[in-house]
Amino acid sequence: MDGKVHLMQLPREVLLGENLTGEVVNVARRVGLKGRALVLYGPRTGKIAGKDVEKALKSVYDVSSLTVRKGATMEEVERAISAIRDESISWVMAVGGGSIIDVAKLASFKTGIPFISFPTTASNDGIASANASIRDLGSKTSVKAVPPVAVIADVKIIKTAPYRYLAAGVGDTISNLTAVKDWQLAHRIKGEYYSEYASSLSLMSAKMVMRNADIIRLGNEESVRKVIKALISTGVAMSIAGSSRPASGAEHLFSHALDMLLQKPALHGEQVGVGTIIMAYLHGLRWERVRETLKRVGAPTNAYDLGIDPDVIIEALTIAHTIRPERYTILGKDGLTREAAEKAAKITGVI
Ligand code: ZN
Repeated sequence: MDGKVHLMQLPREVLLGENLTGEVVNVARRVGLKGRALVLYGPRTGKIAGKDVEKALKSVYDVSSLTVRKGATMEEVERAISAIRDESISWVMAVGGGSIIDVAKLASFKTGIPFISFPTTASNDGIASANASIRDLGSKTSVKAVPPVAVIADVKIIKTAPYRYLAAGVGDTISNLTAVKDWQLAHRIKGEYYSEYASSLSLMSAKMVMRNADIIRLGNEESVRKVIKALISTGVAMSIAGSSRPASGAEHLFSHALDMLLQKPALHGEQVGVGTIIMAYLHGLRWERVRETLKRVGAPTNAYDLGIDPDVIIEALTIAHTIRPERYTILGKDGLTREAAEKAAKITGVI
């Protein structure tokens, strides 16, 4: 391929509805999956849905299963890769939250086999995206992989997750506002590739959750549908862009910095939401609207809500630009000074 070819990889099927555990076989058949399957789940998601999915698949497929206990770590990815090789697995089914899906995504990518995403929470946009966020040797990195061949989102199952996860999904979607601004900046200043389609789709998802904040707050099935659609559309926007640019800017760098500094960080979407308030302020956007939406859906808007020491927030703001230096953002090459970080955090009420 020459430099002008732009590859977009997308899920072939997205199923959104109720009682979909019985549908897994039909979806797998329609997307042409054959051979032995590996179902990945966590200790909790196995009980909620994983074991039912496994049972449904066994009616047609040979199935192995693996319980992921240590979250999205390289160690778990290696374990999954070994299982795939040792048991001649042809495809993977991930039943769980963000970390289970990330482990399945990277393990299947590294072994060159497809995977289906069966999310049990609506907390981040990794559900349908090509990027996996994996912790290795203490730090978390975003690794490029391929998107799932299908996404099966069972609204009833996702609704059983604590409400906090749904609110976090709003944070991860609202971050598209500042991510797109950062992308435009990088396009103008660094001549980086920019896609108007990808940006528009990403912004639309953010606007939809802002408009539907009151419905989302109800925490019912309609709420889950709103957030899931926004997260899947964001994943598609990233696939169109061929990078995480439409959904990951300085607010994500801030969250990654927190992950690095803390033993027990808050949820990804919660940190990213608070980061969006600050980065919106730095961009000269209407940051009050971001904070208002997060408040309305009951997501954290400050250090106290996050359960994070204000000093750590400031530290994260000053080191965020070092996390991924090739990703140009509003933080620039040199990042924020301590004074600037404190000012931004105070004005926006984050500290
Ligand atoms: Zn994110």
